[in-house]
Amino acid sequence: MIILKFGGTSVGTVENIKKVAKIVVANDESKIVVLSAMSGVTNTLQKISNLLYLKNYEEAKLEIQILNNKYKSIIQRLFNVETSFNKADVMLTYHYNLLLSILDIEFEEKHEKIILAQGELVSTNLFQLFLEEIGESSSLISAFDFMKIDINGEPEVQTIENKLLNIISNRLDTKIFITQGFICKNTKGEIDNLKRGGSDYTASIIGAAIDATQIQIWTDIDGMHNNDPRFVDQTISIDEISYDEAAELAYFGAKILHPQSIIPAKEKNIPVLIKNTFKPEAKGTLIHHNTVPKRIRAVAAKDNITAIKIKSYRMLMAYGFLKKIFEVFDKNQTAIDMITTSEVAVSLTIDNIHNIDKIIQELKGFGSIEIDSELSIICIAGDLAQNKKGITSSIFNCLKNIPIRMISYGGSNHNLSFLVKTSDKIAVLNLLNKGLFHNLVKKINLF
Ligand code: ADP
Ligand code: ASP
Ligand code: MG
Repeated sequence: MIILKFGGTSVGTVENIKKVAKIVVANDESKIVVLSAMSGVTNTLQKISNLLYLKNYEEAKLEIQILNNKYKSIIQRLFNVETSFNKADVMLTYHYNLLLSILDIEFEEKHEKIILAQGELVSTNLFQLFLEEIGESSSLISAFDFMKIDINGEPEVQTIENKLLNIISNRLDTKIFITQGFICKNTKGEIDNLKRGGSDYTASIIGAAIDATQIQIWTDIDGMHNNDPRFVDQTISIDEISYDEAAELAYFGAKILHPQSIIPAKEKNIPVLIKNTFKPEAKGTLIHHNTVPKRIRAVAAKDNITAIKIKSYRMLMAYGFLKKIFEVFDKNQTAIDMITTSEVAVSLTIDNIHNIDKIIQELKGFGSIEIDSELSIICIAGDLAQNKKGITSSIFNCLKNIPIRMISYGGSNHNLSFLVKTSDKIAVLNLLNKGLFHNLVKKINLF
């Protein structure tokens, strides 16, 4: 069985939904199709939720109506058969009324998750009805029936596996299963989600649960590129990349993949193929185990980083000091991304500043604290084993005029990362593209 995940743009218009259907029915292989909300919908739902939180009911109602009108216009063009249209219309009315009903109740945190879930619920329903209209049989399975997360928001792997295998084994004649990405249920049995961009994670979790032969991530670009195409003009699709390299890039900002989405696939050694819905003939990128090592595979950047420096002449490097610092972050449920130490100071970075006031207060007991924000981590992934000559010089030679705040190297064989001001990020990505991928850039210029 294979998994095919289609992102927001892939299901974002009538024409695109038809393209997705063509890809899904192209062969007889058994598959689970994971769909995102149509592009822009989760943002709109987030806006509606924010407006409700602020008790701005008028504007929230208007946004709900605009969204409903958008969906209505889509079903008018998507369906030719009246019964299919009517079923879609009834389904949309249900979701429209559900959103409207939240206007009448006291807004609580759990309502945000319910609102956000509507995008994936609608797109999967529409797709299933469309397959039905074109005479392709499929089964819609609800992510709420198997996708469970634990108290830390992490997938409950064993439960998911048991529930999903049970569902599938009860429908042995089904060749095409359809389910929602992103959404799940938490330990309280409430609707929850896997965080923004989470449909990739759903696909990978499902793939691992059922031991899929391949996980395909269908998106709006022809694979993972060597650099961020949103900020660099001359980027090119990578043919293959290892799990570790892809995981580093996803974690450090390559938006094409949800930060955690590689882990379940890697654990089960399931190849992940990234493909372009709008150019299915393009090779795409294969993430797998047996890649030919490449010194520098790709570059990514992660924004909204805050650096914290703790200076202490008395205690630093004393036995147990770092442990005490880490405990402060642990207690405040804040992950540390990068860390560097010197004789008199420790610098570290975080991207979640939810508890930063408490963290600073507690760290003040250890020494003086300096905070720096609006920073970006630049991540370089490749075969970066520390015994190889010239790697660091080739990287930093291109960045002679860029101030660098922190450098992290040697933590793994696949990653070198450093911290710059976000205002320098685009320049850095472009300089690295010219400096590290000049052969590739030359090749593009020949066309
Ligand atoms: P989807 O809706 O299909 O999940 P996303 O918007 O989440 O798609 O991810 C695809 C986008 O990721 C691309 O359109 C591209 O702009 C961006 N992106 C960022 N870094 C990379 C990269 N290294 N390679 C390819 N795409 C990237
Ligand atoms: N619809 C969700 C989002 O926009 C999940 C996803 O697209 O992966 O974040
Ligand atoms: Mg995405």
